[in-house]
Amino acid sequence: MNVEIINTGSELMLGRVLNTHQQWLCRRLADLGHVVTRQVAIADSGPAIQQAVREALTRADLIITTGGLGPTSDDLTRELIAELLGKKLLKSPEVQAHIENFFARRKRPRPEKTDTETFVPEGAEFFLNATGTAPGLAMKITDGSWKFGDEVGISPSTIYHLPSPPVKWLVMLPGPPRELRPMFDHQVVPLLKREFADEMYVCHTLRTTGLGESRVQELVAAGLQPLVMRGLGVGYCARPGAVDVRLTGGGNRAAALVREGAAIVQKILGENIFGFDDDEIEAVVVERLRAQRKTLATAESCTGGLMASRVTDVPGASEIFLGGVVSYANSAKEKFLVVKSSTLERFGTVSEPVAREMALGAREKFGSDFAIAVTGIAGPAGGSAEKPVGTVFIALASAEGVAVKKFLNVWDRATFKQVTATQALEWLRQVLSA
Ligand code: ATP
Repeated sequence: MNVEIINTGSELMLGRVLNTHQQWLCRRLADLGHVVTRQVAIADSGPAIQQAVREALTRADLIITTGGLGPTSDDLTRELIAELLGKKLLKSPEVQAHIENFFARRKRPRPEKTDTETFVPEGAEFFLNATGTAPGLAMKITDGSWKFGDEVGISPSTIYHLPSPPVKWLVMLPGPPRELRPMFDHQVVPLLKREFADEMYVCHTLRTTGLGESRVQELVAAGLQPLVMRGLGVGYCARPGAVDVRLTGGGNRAAALVREGAAIVQKILGENIFGFDDDEIEAVVVERLRAQRKTLATAESCTGGLMASRVTDVPGASEIFLGGVVSYANSAKEKFLVVKSSTLERFGTVSEPVAREMALGAREKFGSDFAIAVTGIAGPAGGSAEKPVGTVFIALASAEGVAVKKFLNVWDRATFKQVTATQALEWLRQVLSA
């Protein structure tokens, strides 16, 4: 099956917005077994959008466009595609009611311009937008049931003839990621499962931490080899502080094959597996703390609040997260976490005793069951022979006492922060799982 993505938006062409839809949709589709065959980004201009869709229709079974469904004058995708396919736009009372409700709930008058979003191409399915107003649209295109609306007058070199198979789907999604992502997961995926059932395959990801990508491969490859011979696909994906092992398979034996593979990986990597598929360490930590009715506080120096940010990204974090201190300066460590000035002077800011006192201070100040503290040297400057750039101390305080671990995370600053936060949260996850 051929899948093509068309990302629209002049801001993409100007480099003002990073085209994250390309990566996000490709990944989601690949996890469903549909590897994207072509992707193009184009400006919001009539000829560019129609030309791209026209060309994609000659090759693809599934075309996904992103952007241009909103109410402003540069949002033209719906109109241009309807025009291209010779479909009328019909007002949908259901979409209108949804948009009216969207504004009523926010106690704001509905802007007249949103009228354009209530129009749906004749025969199209629509996805009501759970986090915005413009609905997504899906058009089933069957051979003979459509023609290009403007074929007359187009030069012969730009007329394309549809090959079989006859059924294609064209899905249009809104541009904002917070609208596109839930719509894809909750509304487009069911459509794909319904319409492309024969093409679906099984994909299961085991998420690991604490080991590098090559080490993970070294450990599991031999064990998986007999299954690979029977058709199991194995992929590895390194992320800051984590490595994913992706197992895939097609056909009616796929589920059993992937299950067998997952059992082997789990046996070998056991403790290093923190979750599956889209699980994030922080979500697992929040879930475990909630289940155990325990609370958490953070004391962060070199991660600048990233741990607290990641924990509070998880819905329901308020039940377990009491608060955090970003104690970047020594004075803040002393003032808010009661770290002793003598400890700072004697051992230095980045040291085991300081990490220990930070964690104890946070636990005491917040009155939490657990407190995690981090202090380290992100670099690029500030290292020494004894404490090179990348040195990090992570402390974990609980009713059992306090323990400190030392790591060496030699990365750029942004990756350093992510890796360090992952290590700290992973440690807590392990303690909560024990
Ligand atoms: P709106 O109702 O906001 O106008 P829309 O469906 O018309 O939505 P666009 O106007 O094309 O979508 O894009 C809205 C915003 O979504 C952009 O300003 C940008 O921030 C984000 N966006 C659009 N396309 C992408 C993309 N490919 N990757 C990441 N973000 C994007």
